[in-house]
Amino acid sequence: MGYIEDTREPEDNPPVASCLECEEPLYSGDEVADVPAGYICINCKTSTALKHASKDELKDFITSNNLEDKFGIWFYEPYVKILED
Ligand SMILES: [Zn+2]
Repeated sequence: MGYIEDTREPEDNPPVASCLECEEPLYSGDEVADVPAGYICINCKTSTALKHASKDELKDFITSNNLEDKFGIWFYEPYVKILED
């Protein structure tokens, strides 16, 4: 088994699309998010997800990852106090 060098020139492997966010070219075999408006590249997924997620989707994320306790602590952290007489 020998190492097969990838000798493809850009013109042999033209981009099939570009990322909606950063406009970088996307090639056959690239992992993308296929959204109604086009494709999001792997490098733009995190920032784009935070920008576009709805409140319900963020709630789904919290509950499906069992982060309710952490979220509750974080959300009320600035308001927590110990009541005194
Ligand atoms: Zn991108």
